[in-house]
Amino acid sequence: MSVVSLSCRECGEQYALEASYVCEVCFGPLEVRYDLSGLDAAETRRKIQAGPASIWRYADFLPFDKPPRSALGAGMTPLLRADRLARELGLGEVWVKNDAANPTHSFKDRVVTVALAKAQELGYQVVACASTGNLANSVAAHAAAAGLESYVFVPSDLEEQKILATGVYGTKLVAVQGSYDDVNRLCTELSSDRDWAFVNVNLRPYYAEGSKTLAFEIAEQLGFEVPDRVVVPVASGSLFTKIARGFDEWHEVGLLDRGAPTMNGAQALGCSPVAQAFEAGHEVCRPVRPKTIAKSLAIGNPADGPYALDLARRSGGSIDSVADDEIREGISLLARTTGVFTETAGGVTTAVLRKLAERGDIDPSERVVLVITGEGLKTLDAVRGTFDTTVVEPTVESFEAALSQDLLAAA
Ligand SMILES: *Cc1c(COP(=O)(O)O)cnc(C)c1O
Ligand SMILES: [Zn+2]
Repeated sequence: MSVVSLSCRECGEQYALEASYVCEVCFGPLEVRYDLSGLDAAETRRKIQAGPASIWRYADFLPFDKPPRSALGAGMTPLLRADRLARELGLGEVWVKNDAANPTHSFKDRVVTVALAKAQELGYQVVACASTGNLANSVAAHAAAAGLESYVFVPSDLEEQKILATGVYGTKLVAVQGSYDDVNRLCTELSSDRDWAFVNVNLRPYYAEGSKTLAFEIAEQLGFEVPDRVVVPVASGSLFTKIARGFDEWHEVGLLDRGAPTMNGAQALGCSPVAQAFEAGHEVCRPVRPKTIAKSLAIGNPADGPYALDLARRSGGSIDSVADDEIREGISLLARTTGVFTETAGGVTTAVLRKLAERGDIDPSERVVLVITGEGLKTLDAVRGTFDTTVVEPTVESFEAALSQDLLAAA
């Protein structure tokens, strides 16, 4: 197996594969380091294709010596060709990676599957997380499946659907009166004196690895090819940077003929610290106070913001933001052109794709992948009032009278 150590992203200091996340020398973030030199491209590809229909088919690129088993699993979500969306935006080839099709309906099942497997390997009995909503759903469900005790911390103003879809799993649900950044700070404090596995605090280096599998799947589903451009939502920036890492690792092994494509990040205007820094041409400097309907992306102090910014610049991409009304329109646009109903985060991503298309950033010859990370049923309020319902009496006359205009147009 190719996993080697934890290593500091800033100074390169090496650490054992334990529950730690910050460098003792320079306080930089730790990440998992691999030695991929022993992997033969043809043999690795054969192993992947013969592997299970879950993220564990990519076990050679995940932080375990032996591929663990997990009860709920994640991954192998559909990649859909979206010709009607492409036509509406004047683009050539657009694909939708629908990660709402995971067990708890968001991409968070990928990161939680990896983090919980590591928590179990390290012998933890209790798992926990600081969540903007989807992570709460996922940790509660995967902990229930694994028979682990769980504590889930969320901001108290979270969407009701996400609260209900978390509490049902029998987790200890803690609603913190504050923003996500307050929740995260509380969890960081709690993790220092409790023997709990906080999936996105002390297990964050492992958690983050799960996001690479989105890139692996996209490449595999395109016949081991890299698209020209990927559009990805940005909260902490972890998903965005790890998708690029996934393509780069497969390129290094020889599974792909190139590494990461042009990377476009998407934020909500009401919480856009990385997009603001991109536009101003400086670094992500101070935390912002979120005010947006895209609550799953509402991180005002993004841990991987600087790396996301650097990646967008290096890859010829961007980090853009869109207003709440554009987010609602994005949800409707995706739904009516592809049949995929996404939550507010997917509205952000779709609206940013539209913005890039309108700005002329995308050549019609490009193959573009739109990463849809969550399910519309979890943020129903975003579409309330965006369409009309025709109410009729139960008679043919009433129906025909009410819809005469539409019936004429259809004839
Ligand atoms: C968590 C989340 C993201 C992005 O998370 P990062 O912190 O940037 O890795 C994107 N979309 C949805 C729906 C999420 O829940
Ligand atoms: Zn360091």
